Amino acid sequence: MKNYEFWFIVGSQTLYGPEVLETVDARAREMAAYLTERLPYPLVYKGTAKSAEEISAVVREANYQEKCCGLVTWCHTFSPSKMWLSGLEVLRKPYCHFVTQYNRDIPNDEIDMDFMNLNQAAHGDREHGFAGARLRLPRKIIAGYWQNPAAAERLGRWMRTAIGVAVSRNMKVMRFGDNMRDVAVTEGDKIEAQLKFGWQVNTWAVGDLAAEMATVTEEEVNAQMAAYLGKYDLATENREAVAYQAREEIAIKRMLDREGCRAFADTFQDLYGLEQLPGLAAQDLMAQGYGFGGEGDWKVAALLAVMKAMGKDENGASAFMEDYTYHLEPGREYSLGAHMLEVCPSVAQGRPRIETHPLGIGMNRKDPARLVFNGKAGKGIVASLIDMGGRFRLIVQDIEAVEPIMDMPNLPVARVMWRAMPDLLTGVECWITAGGAHHTVLSYDVTAEQMRDWAAIMGIEYVHIDKDTTQEKLEQQLMLQDIAWKLR
Ligand code: MN
Repeated sequence: MKNYEFWFIVGSQTLYGPEVLETVDARAREMAAYLTERLPYPLVYKGTAKSAEEISAVVREANYQEKCCGLVTWCHTFSPSKMWLSGLEVLRKPYCHFVTQYNRDIPNDEIDMDFMNLNQAAHGDREHGFAGARLRLPRKIIAGYWQNPAAAERLGRWMRTAIGVAVSRNMKVMRFGDNMRDVAVTEGDKIEAQLKFGWQVNTWAVGDLAAEMATVTEEEVNAQMAAYLGKYDLATENREAVAYQAREEIAIKRMLDREGCRAFADTFQDLYGLEQLPGLAAQDLMAQGYGFGGEGDWKVAALLAVMKAMGKDENGASAFMEDYTYHLEPGREYSLGAHMLEVCPSVAQGRPRIETHPLGIGMNRKDPARLVFNGKAGKGIVASLIDMGGRFRLIVQDIEAVEPIMDMPNLPVARVMWRAMPDLLTGVECWITAGGAHHTVLSYDVTAEQMRDWAAIMGIEYVHIDKDTTQEKLEQQLMLQDIAWKLR
């Protein structure tokens, strides 16, 4: 984890005299220290702002400092918002307005006008909120008493979202080969992606990878094999195939790290100089936090890296996924997700097995090794990023993954089974109405609320399919959003 931090700026003014400001300052310090103990990243108190100059200076510094991943603001007293406008207008970092107050309860006996002047966040936060609304700023508003664990929990989740923003703005994606021939939904405007998300998406020849693999030593391959056996069960006699994946992994990782890339995409239609499509290699790289997309899908590759970074310890339980086939037994409808090889073992239930099997499509000359496992049960989301022409749309659907209801002994790939919300068939109708891809990021620890916040900060369209979605409401929403986005 990098030394990321968040800045806490408290708004006030000089009207109340130095004593009040000293109290505000001391309390803000106390609150930042208390919350830092309970948050995934430090909340660093940067002072009580009393003028436009002070606010502009701290915003300039926040924009400039790489370690600062976002601003958290709050008004203990009343902070007139004209002094915030110039600063907030140029803010480039995620912004959270924390609506709280120092005291939890109204002190019945001691409350007087002095108390009211000092503790008027209910008043001050409204003035502050107007500035955000007037500026049309993407902002997170979290209301809650600062010592209530629920407030820290929400603030912590927003911080993780902001880490996703920081990672996104520094994202480089390495493409081996182009998108799978004729596929539409994995295409997209790379210039727009760079402007909106910060993603630099560029191509490298598969031959470069083959050449890099030739420089990997036997000792390195043996060390990688030992690392595999420490995490996975070897369930194949074909050690040579596994060693080949080890060689691929080492070479891909070297190239990614050399170029500063955090995600990559490949395609089974372009494997010149390779014997196997990277399977185990891609899976083990995803487990380390790299994003991956099959069939040239650079959008899902970058989104996976972003969502992993938004998860627990900046490498959460998120996986490249594809809806493959349905189980349509009435009352027990499920979607079966998998990929031809590459599902991240961070979503595995139990210890994955390394297996080798033939792969019928693509340029594989030999049977690729891959990890096979069942996905774990639990609530989650699937997310898909599509290019609508002129804008990106992020579609998020709530799901509930289950232990697969059958063992599928002849299925040679990792698999996850889930129920989509509001129910499988309505959920599928809604997903298809919104244009969601077959490729998704499935996550057990990033929430729909986090993805909504991320989409707002990135300035893209967001569609959420949840337990209350109906086809009719969704069609209405999409129609209105389409008009709204054209007016922007
Ligand atoms: Mn695919």
